Amino acid sequence: MAEETIFSKIIRREIPSDIVYQDELVTAFRDIAPRTPTHVLIVPNVLIPNVNDVLPEHEQALGRLFTVASKIAHDEGIDEDGYRLIVNCNRHGGQEVYHIHMHLLGGRPLGPLLS
Ligand code: IMP
Repeated sequence: MAEETIFSKIIRREIPSDIVYQDELVTAFRDIAPRTPTHVLIVPNVLIPNVNDVLPEHEQALGRLFTVASKIAHDEGIDEDGYRLIVNCNRHGGQEVYHIHMHLLGGRPLGPLLS
């Protein structure tokens, strides 16, 4: 059984956070250390540590990450200019929190991926 992270407490609203969207499958909240004018994390409500742990039964929740990313990008007014979605995995991927999450980054030009 994977160990819970701070994201589970955010999902259950046990600690303060800036939640911008929540439904029965996913929760989206603003990153505490935003790298771009819009920096939202979108996470499944169920604990999946990272991409290596994804199972077919997670497909509905993980598909919802994209639906919600699209909605939030529209709500934030960054859909026309564009934005970036990132999912980090393990050490080389730069993962810090082991509850799978999608970064939605936008609000300024981001340049090439690995610059
Ligand atoms: P990772 O490197 O892909 O795991 O990204 C983890 C992200 O979670 C980082 O961008 C952190 O700034 C963010 N983060 C960590 N703790 C919190 C929190 O309590 N609220 C919101 N964002 C957080």
